[in-house]
Amino acid sequence: MKTMTCKQLGGVCDKKFHAETFEEITEMSKQHGMEMFQKGDEAHLKAMREMQELMKSPQEMKEWFDNKRMEFEALPDDIDQV
Ligand SMILES: [Zn+2]
Repeated sequence: MKTMTCKQLGGVCDKKFHAETFEEITEMSKQHGMEMFQKGDEAHLKAMREMQELMKSPQEMKEWFDNKRMEFEALPDDIDQV
């Protein structure tokens, strides 16, 4: 398992996500973003709007994901957590 925070994944808070794969962790971050969106959290709304801007460019989007994937792969595995 590896850990990344909302902030590290383009968000704004320190909520931690734990996952085995990059796909899993981006999915968790997306879910969290949706939750915060429903709560009307202004900081997250802003981050999501920025992300949507980024998604308009497939090239930039790909670069963002490639970078984050590398960041994720470079992380040390979590010590076993209870
Ligand atoms: Zn967050």
